[in-house]
Amino acid sequence: MLSTVKKLTLTGFIFGLCFPLLAIYIDLLHNTLAFSWLTIQQLYKNNLLHYLIASAPFVLSGMGYFSAKNQEQLEASIINRIKQATINNTASKSPFLFVVEKEITQLLSKKTKQLEFQKKALDEHSIVSIADVTGKIIYVNEKFEEISQYSRAELIGQNHRILKSDHHPDAFFNTMWKTLTNGQVWHGEIQNKAKDGSLYWVASTIVPYLNERGKLEQYIAIRTDITEVKNNAERLNFALSSTGDAVWDWNIKTGQFIMSDMYAEMLGYQANELPATIDTWVHSVHPDDIGRAQKNLQSYLSGKVATYQLEVRLLCKDNSWKWIHCRGQIIDEDKLGQPLTMTGFHTDISARKAMEAELLQEKEAAEKANQAKSEFLSSMSHELRTPLNAILGFAQLMEDNPDEPLSEEQQENIEFILSSGEHLLNLINDILELAAIEAKKVDLQIKSIVLSNALTDAISLLKPIAAKTNIVINDIAEDINFTVLADSIKLKQVLLNLISNAIKYNKPNGTISLNCETINSTHVRINVCDTGIGIPVNQQQKLFTAFNRLGQENSNIEGTGIGLLVTKELVEMMHGTLGFESIEAQGSCFWFELPLNSTKNISN
Ligand code: ADP
Repeated sequence: MLSTVKKLTLTGFIFGLCFPLLAIYIDLLHNTLAFSWLTIQQLYKNNLLHYLIASAPFVLSGMGYFSAKNQEQLEASIINRIKQATINNTASKSPFLFVVEKEITQLLSKKTKQLEFQKKALDEHSIVSIADVTGKIIYVNEKFEEISQYSRAELIGQNHRILKSDHHPDAFFNTMWKTLTNGQVWHGEIQNKAKDGSLYWVASTIVPYLNERGKLEQYIAIRTDITEVKNNAERLNFALSSTGDAVWDWNIKTGQFIMSDMYAEMLGYQANELPATIDTWVHSVHPDDIGRAQKNLQSYLSGKVATYQLEVRLLCKDNSWKWIHCRGQIIDEDKLGQPLTMTGFHTDISARKAMEAELLQEKEAAEKANQAKSEFLSSMSHELRTPLNAILGFAQLMEDNPDEPLSEEQQENIEFILSSGEHLLNLINDILELAAIEAKKVDLQIKSIVLSNALTDAISLLKPIAAKTNIVINDIAEDINFTVLADSIKLKQVLLNLISNAIKYNKPNGTISLNCETINSTHVRINVCDTGIGIPVNQQQKLFTAFNRLGQENSNIEGTGIGLLVTKELVEMMHGTLGFESIEAQGSCFWFELPLNSTKNISN
């Protein structure tokens, strides 16, 4: 469909050609009575030139249709020529001119409406103002009034300085004016001050308007409120700077590497002192770390690994090295999925690294000391036990010698020697056991063991001791039919330890019951429960600490405070766990779980 302008120009063209003929025809009709060759000649002389001149603009405008390079040029040239024609033809305006004038008016009103609509849309979105060449405000829209809190009347005639905040240095505005007076468009973010003194940020585009002679006439400024964005960015920056992290942004294609001020500060440089190129980073990486760093980065960029993070040493300005935790993420990719930009953080982890190194040193030293202690103890084992066994042996001989019976006092003394010697032997044995466990020098023979046999053996060994204080150990249920995977000696040691504690810390006439239950298809739990003194809640977390007897050291119950710790270690070495429940003055239940020998067990 032909546009109005096109129609108009075509009409102009056709009418332009026809008009002289039509005009001659009308004039001829007018002079019918005097029609003669003379009349035509006369008309030609008087009017033809006039007709041609009148129609020329239309002919030209029609030609403009073909020659105009674009619609705007065409419209402008038509309007110009029509104007010209109107001036030339005011005296004898033809009906055609009225038609054209009407079309033009319609076109203009349509264009005006479009412009008004565009202005409305602009006013809805933007803060708009116009200033004259001296910077005096000559127009502001509603949004301008709203954000600045000044009324239009207060603003018109004022300089934009009325809104100036102290945020920007003079150089900022000098550059802006230089750009504008050179006739160039200026873009930038400005902080302004509203009437009540509050500050707001606008992203501005200022366009200098040059008149037809190319002279600067006005400045049109279009702004968007970015206060919230700026505040958010400020908060983000604050949060980032308070974490002490540095931020970087790498354009992978161009090699540009933009760093936050903190990046430079972290390495002892001034802000902007480091060249904004990826080489800055590459050349700062420690030679021993660069290979690993590049491999890591390549793996991430090629998609082999999902995250990019590594710990490297970076060179500081004072030639020292800092440990940096470097992490980043691809932000932008091209159509082929190739990474374009990457953004990330640097965290100074030097303090953590130093602490780790210190801890490692301490750990190694402690391990060495422990090893030395264990070696000393195990080598002393023989030296300690041999004389002690001799003392105990001879004391027993003296006690049981029917040829030389002891006096009552001697008997008492010998018993004291024997009990103290046994206590010492137990202590030595426990310490040596613990030392052997810590030195990982315990050899276990894990094999299939029928649990009921191990329980019966342990019970029968300890029943006589329990009977001394009228403590009853209940027999185990007959249907216990589990086979566990354990070391038979260590299992026995565990059972003896727990049952003897149940005897030691029981009440006279108390009872001890042992039972077993499956926890799941793989483990069985053995419970050793007593009706004894129990363990106070505030003491329970101290259990399993070497030499801690939880207040029993002042009682007449013998012990070393190592037995439970050794027991726990042994259970764990057999791939089990040990735990307890205890109520003060009511009793305790110590339990341990061991792996079942799945091939031998019949599910209960
Ligand atoms: P000890 O040689 O003192 O018995 P253990 O390591 O076997 O050393 O036990 C540590 C401490 O735990 C004991 O001194 C005692 O206070 C407490 N304890 C152990 N078993 C029981 C129990 N069955 N009832 C109450 N207290 C117990």
